[in-house]
Amino acid sequence: MFEPGVMIWAERDEAQTPMDLGVKYAQLGVPGGMQLTETAAKEWRETLQETSVTVVTVFAAYDGEDYADIPTVQRTVGFIPPATRASREARTLAVSDFAARLGVKSIACHIGFVPEDATHPDYVAVRGMVRRVCDHAAKHGQTFALETGQEAAEVLLHFIADVARPNLRINFDPANLILYGTGEPIAALRQLAPLVVSVHCKDGDWPAAGVPGALGRERALGEGSVGIRRFVETLRELGFPGPLNVEREAEDPQERLRDMARGVELLRTLTGSVT
Ligand code: MG
Repeated sequence: MFEPGVMIWAERDEAQTPMDLGVKYAQLGVPGGMQLTETAAKEWRETLQETSVTVVTVFAAYDGEDYADIPTVQRTVGFIPPATRASREARTLAVSDFAARLGVKSIACHIGFVPEDATHPDYVAVRGMVRRVCDHAAKHGQTFALETGQEAAEVLLHFIADVARPNLRINFDPANLILYGTGEPIAALRQLAPLVVSVHCKDGDWPAAGVPGALGRERALGEGSVGIRRFVETLRELGFPGPLNVEREAEDPQERLRDMARGVELLRTLTGSVT
């Protein structure tokens, strides 16, 4: 299982894309507007079975999210915006149900910028939401994984301890810590490792100096500042079982798929896995 997987998106990628990329593992993103019908679940379930691809995580994204820069992320992403909290909570529970119909044992999302002040009303509200999502996911035997990057490792650890749910875990994305300027990813991985249930293999460069609120730039795997070889070596050293899911966010579909294929090949080299 210590081998490449891919992060794909329903309504953007085809269900056979992981097979086309030569991998046996995937994470499936569910866009906010997707109808989570039994028909959709059946189609995904059947194709995944036919292609022998195992989905390890279903990711929830939400209508209205915008990753343009840090202030926009703070305003629009995850559980933080008060106006969409109720609808996004309901959506997350529906994604958990959808994942259960696919037989997937983990769900994940960006919950957004949680305030560090534990008495802040947004902190209290989001902590409650995360507890309810965890409790719902637990009924399906699922973990609920928080995507890293929008806060430093110790802030995330403190929040998770405060939520106090045994199935609350982490999807570790090394590039996000760089893109948001929150910390050196390998050091963060060592801190968070006991809670990491899944990883993104994504790359990127630090934000430009002197541009307040700027995000760094996502790059093809191996071309950014993460140090993918060291990331993979550290995962192995820490006993992370895999898979190593290539995530690429390039807008151009051909560039994205080409870079995902190259990322898979790079990880095959680094892990010594063969097709
Ligand atoms: Mg990610």
